[in-house]
Amino acid sequence: MAKSKASKTRNRIDALRAVIDKECTAPTCQESGTCRHEGEKDAARHVLGRLLEKLKEAAGDEREERAQMWAEIYERGYDANGSTYSTGAKYRAGQSMKERAAGIRADIKMARKAGQTPLVQEGTGLVSQALETYRFDPIGEAPAQIKFRVRIGPGYGSIHIGIDNIPQEWGWTAEEVADYKGKKVTRWRRTQALKDLEAELKSIGEAYNADHGSNLYTDVSRKAFYVFVESDDPETLARCAEYERKHRERRG
Ligand SMILES: [Zn+2]
Repeated sequence: MAKSKASKTRNRIDALRAVIDKECTAPTCQESGTCRHEGEKDAARHVLGRLLEKLKEAAGDEREERAQMWAEIYERGYDANGSTYSTGAKYRAGQSMKERAAGIRADIKMARKAGQTPLVQEGTGLVSQALETYRFDPIGEAPAQIKFRVRIGPGYGSIHIGIDNIPQEWGWTAEEVADYKGKKVTRWRRTQALKDLEAELKSIGEAYNADHGSNLYTDVSRKAFYVFVESDDPETLARCAEYERKHRERRG
């Protein structure tokens, strides 16, 4: 009996490699000569590259090797005036905002799909790292109920990545603080897990971005676009729900 695909997929890295290496046999692709599944492979390459980078870093690889890898990913420099230049790994000149948003969406989708496969296997040297897997794959490890939204901002100058349906105890901790009148109020703070997820999403978005010479001192921005990651704390969510309820009452 032939080995099934599932038994060959041992961990998340294998699962992503399987997507990348899979030869397309779809008749429509073979007839037309262009594979419609290249986007999926591209997303898998991006997600796998990020995952390997994090695992390598955690494994305590040589500084030099790491620097070399980053050099390949980013070409970054500062000119004599303190202007910054960078090119994200997925940035392409002339790419439309729609294409960028679609790429970010595909990367998130791929990371979620791969996230269903265990990051590491029992009995490997990486097991101890599995305890903190969200550090290596915050998108794949985020609770299943979370939903992601990617939209282009007004004027096509930004991409907004929204995180919805966050389990309260996973994403937020309540802190009782006194306001300026001494009244006790609740302040919601992001957990480390949510912060890591937001940082990862920001970094996915920035991979499609480039900076053609922004300068902090002269307040000049020459970025291709801005990336915003958004999540609402429980208080904001409650306020929105209350607003919607009143709005419905008024109409009904
Ligand atoms: Zn295809």
